[in-house]
Amino acid sequence: MKRQRLLVLGATGSIGDSTLSVVSRHSQFEVWGLTAHSNWRKMFELVKRWRPKFVAMSTESGAEQLRAALREADVQCEILAGPDGLIELAGHPDVDIVMAAIVGAAGLMPTLTAARCGKRILLANKESLVMAGEIFMQTARVAGATILPVDSEHNALFQALPNHLQQPGEKIDWRSVGVDKLVLTASGGPFLNASPEMLEAATPEQAVAHPNWSMGAKISVDSATLMNKGLEVIEACHLFDLPPKHVEVVIHPQSIVHSMVYYTDGSVLAQAGNPDMRTPIAHALAWPDRIDAGVEPLDLTTVSKLEFFPPDTDRFPCLRLAYECIRVGQDRPTVLNAANEEAVAAFLARRIGFRQIAEVVDATLNQVPTRSVEELTDILAIDQKARDTARHYIGKL
Ligand code: NAD
Ligand code: MG
Repeated sequence: MKRQRLLVLGATGSIGDSTLSVVSRHSQFEVWGLTAHSNWRKMFELVKRWRPKFVAMSTESGAEQLRAALREADVQCEILAGPDGLIELAGHPDVDIVMAAIVGAAGLMPTLTAARCGKRILLANKESLVMAGEIFMQTARVAGATILPVDSEHNALFQALPNHLQQPGEKIDWRSVGVDKLVLTASGGPFLNASPEMLEAATPEQAVAHPNWSMGAKISVDSATLMNKGLEVIEACHLFDLPPKHVEVVIHPQSIVHSMVYYTDGSVLAQAGNPDMRTPIAHALAWPDRIDAGVEPLDLTTVSKLEFFPPDTDRFPCLRLAYECIRVGQDRPTVLNAANEEAVAAFLARRIGFRQIAEVVDATLNQVPTRSVEELTDILAIDQKARDTARHYIGKL
């Protein structure tokens, strides 16, 4: 069998690690290309281990240092530099599978390029769907790209949906196939039971210490504010072409049930497993087959209880803001995403407090007037405007 050529966008991150861990167990995948932002030391180790044909570093200095280190070590690999290098690899005719695991809006252009080129896309970068969901899904549909959700909740939903409709992005009359609603589970993050005073004083170290999942800093903070679940509601609406009133969120602190599909006959199909991203990654890599992910089997007898309760949007207003944005549509999710990225970066740099993340997002949504979105250039302009507005607001805090 021909080996499938894999490009990992965001190879030095948490999802990048988990992806390469699954790939290391199977010979059917060839690590054809890797990309990262600036961490050339980690990329140097990855190149020695995986021997990809191509690497792209989005920073020039990262590419320079990597080239020098590889020359010194006498390792052959073509290194591209700058954001265009990532885009070039994402659209390269030799690539079969693209793991989209860049964090944030920086993932949009390479992931969209993979969609335009009809690739099989393993989608972890939820921000590209939040920013430009309609354009992204339409591009994928026209080009015949296959989009396989890697976000654990969306991967769970994908698995629990009717088999013959499992390709997301298909236009579906949900009622006719008996789907009533999708329910996303949320762990609630490290501050699930924190008082408003504790939230006020929360530090970046506390916010990134997620109780169940080990992830990059940005998504960990998003999990602590519940913005991550808000972004995921928007992601689900686009992936599965469903209005937000059919997408609900329930807090489930044990992170064993990864999401559920409610059917009109009263059936509820859930996907469960230990909280380990290698499961959805392996599922997306091999779909429609199954491969070993290296994940511990779930032992339900050791899970003392499974709890489910509604989210508290008074303490965690980001989830409410995200729902408001997807209900209005147009440019609102793009503004939400950009403002959130700026606010999270400012929080991690200790320039604002934890509770001010929601404040910055709310203020930015109020200050940037709503406008319609026709094409990609509109998205990029809205993203920039929202970032400028958020930064200005942060500067005054
Ligand atoms: P991470 O911070 O660990 O890694 C991010 C990767 O993106 C790194 O390889 C980095 O080099 C690259 N990157 C960062 N900025 C870039 C830029 N400007 N240009 C190009 N590359 C850049 O993040 P992560 O936790 O692996 O998350 C990656 C994506 O997957 C995010 O969109 C996140 O929401 C999503 N996701 C992650 C998890 C998880 O468990 N980590 C779960 C579900 C979804
Ligand atoms: Mg998730």
